[in-house]
Amino acid sequence: MSGQLCFKCHVSEPAIISREGKKKLYCVECFKKFSFNVFRTSVQRATLTDTVEAKEGGIIAVSGGRSSMLLLDWLCELREYQEKTTHTPWEDLIVVFVKGLDYETTAWENEACDFVHDHCVKRHVKFRMVSVAEYLSDLPAKPLVEERILLLRMILAKEAKLLQVRRVFYGGDATSLAGLTLYYLACGGAHLYWRITSEHDVVGDLLILRPLRNLLSSEAALAAHFFQVPYVQTSAVSRTDPRNVKRVIRNFLCGISVNFKSTIFNILRTVDKIPHNETLDRPLLHPAKSESRSCAVCLSEIRTENVDKLALGEVCKSCQLVLTM
Ligand SMILES: [Zn+2]
Ligand SMILES: [Zn+2]
Repeated sequence: MSGQLCFKCHVSEPAIISREGKKKLYCVECFKKFSFNVFRTSVQRATLTDTVEAKEGGIIAVSGGRSSMLLLDWLCELREYQEKTTHTPWEDLIVVFVKGLDYETTAWENEACDFVHDHCVKRHVKFRMVSVAEYLSDLPAKPLVEERILLLRMILAKEAKLLQVRRVFYGGDATSLAGLTLYYLACGGAHLYWRITSEHDVVGDLLILRPLRNLLSSEAALAAHFFQVPYVQTSAVSRTDPRNVKRVIRNFLCGISVNFKSTIFNILRTVDKIPHNETLDRPLLHPAKSESRSCAVCLSEIRTENVDKLALGEVCKSCQLVLTM
């Protein structure tokens, strides 16, 4: 690479291929700026279009994996930056670690929990551990992947209410969210997938954010490396199982992206264009009043008698479809 310089600063040694092609390379510092800006813009865009203020804290779903640890570190950076520039302290950032999403606590999970806790102490972030058993008294059989996602979502929504914060942050980069989207389309859960993969989503008075959604997984991995974000390796079972549909889809997406770089973002942009107020989504437009019955998963009002009573409480029709899929 002799003779060539970073295409942004024109000063430093180039190191990382940019989205603009093999001839446009970032130096490490410019790549760090680029990736952090993608994240920051996403958080700010959500804040500008909603009633939630920038200084408001929020809860962060952290598993200890690379994506959520990067999210945590960047939120800490953003908090520091905004406090310095606006002289207004942020309200609390609270990390929530959910134990037992497989309905049993594993040694790996305990390790990850301790790891996340120690990191929160270092970064002056509040830490809270929640166990699924606290929410589900009567544990059914081993949960499906869909149930785990919805369960996590339900628990975090309730925690946010309890802790009186209005923002919920999730990790999840473009590659994994595009993969999930294709997966849900294939499984017929299309009416719900955008709630699980959208960049911003309002449920009742909660604002749900996925600020890493505009970064490819390769970019997020490089960012975690250069920002020196510590993380734990997630359990390897589903990753090596060749029958795992999500893994097949992910490999397909990564493969096609080698030659067609914008594929992943095109999938996500297409999802964004699908109207969210389709018939099945209607309950979401009527967030439940406190005295009425609300769906345990999406928190929208339940207006028919035709509801299923699952272990997690009453669930509306659209969530029911996904849960029993
Ligand atoms: Zn540079
Ligand atoms: Zn629901």
